[in-house]
Amino acid sequence: MNVPFLDLRAPYAELRTEIDQAVQRVLGSGRYLFGPELEAFEDEFAAYCDAAHCVAVGNGGVALELVFRALDIGPGDEVIVPSHTFFATWAAVSAVGARPVPVEPEEGTRNLDPARIEAAVTPRTRAIVPVHLYGQPADLEPIGKIAERHGLAVVEDAAQAHGARYRGRRIGAGSLAATFSFYPGKNLGALGDGGAVVTRDAALAEQLRLRRNYGSRVKYHHEVQAGNTRLDELQAAVLRVKLRRLDEWNARRSAVAGRYLRELADVDGLELPAVAPWADPVWHLFVVRSEFRDELQERLAGAGVGTLIHYPVPVHLSPAYASPDRPAGSLPLAERLAAEVLSLPIGPHLSGREVDAVVAAVRGA
Ligand SMILES: *Cc1c(COP(=O)(O)O)cnc(C)c1O
Repeated sequence: MNVPFLDLRAPYAELRTEIDQAVQRVLGSGRYLFGPELEAFEDEFAAYCDAAHCVAVGNGGVALELVFRALDIGPGDEVIVPSHTFFATWAAVSAVGARPVPVEPEEGTRNLDPARIEAAVTPRTRAIVPVHLYGQPADLEPIGKIAERHGLAVVEDAAQAHGARYRGRRIGAGSLAATFSFYPGKNLGALGDGGAVVTRDAALAEQLRLRRNYGSRVKYHHEVQAGNTRLDELQAAVLRVKLRRLDEWNARRSAVAGRYLRELADVDGLELPAVAPWADPVWHLFVVRSEFRDELQERLAGAGVGTLIHYPVPVHLSPAYASPDRPAGSLPLAERLAAEVLSLPIGPHLSGREVDAVVAAVRGA
């Protein structure tokens, strides 16, 4: 049996009638940007996150970038980011002219280690960006205390964590800013690009609304220098359909993760993801760790099981960020994770038999 890492046809197949109806409704409406679907989606996603405001934009990376701009973070400023994350987290900091300052992860959760943050704070630091990587919430309470002590903003990169909970509260609930991506493979995925920011702060939301639309509130009246980045009506309408299924689909992901955690617990040399006691993760990815990662990946491929590596090159060693100040060996935890992590197939549409096949293949390898 072949188990692909991800099959994006399955979510569409399950919701085909509803999605087709939503698309037809928009096509016939004559409103393709800034219409009723966007407004309704923003209200519904804010409510889902228990957040006061939602501002939808063109993608998850630009959502982070706009938050930094709205907070007036730019050249000369530093922003603390995880050493172990997707490239986009660092790129958004660089895009506004600020400097990403990496901090190493906790080994168990693979998320930003609060105990290491304070050593990275300087007089130029403006913000901390915890990433809820793989759908596991970062430890927000101690991070918030450090931010308060030093007068820093906490901007959460929640691109992989739609619906996750930290100490019982939704990611985004009460946040200054949490940014989401609706890239097709994310837990809440559009049929193309999309992103959003949720915030408790009405003034920040207003700044973001300006900055996603050429700095204008009133057509042809431009208050700040800004480009455009918008979520169109088609994507908003599709996301509204999928949002209604998000909790159910996250529960299905959890069931798959539960099986992996139980049925792979005794496999020698395989480290399974740790779930912190305060976390309700949404299992965007199920990431195991092994010293023999490359061999394991090859054997799984031989058994028909698709896997991916998130991420194979630590951001600081990518050509984009390579610098003599930060050579190989300078962020050893991120470098070890890049060498050892492997993502098994997970998703709401993985069948019981497919999970059986993955478990058997991993045990056999
Ligand atoms: C997907 C992702 C992003 C960027 O989202 P896009 O919509 O692709 O721009 C940012 N951060 C993390 C952690 C992501 O996984």
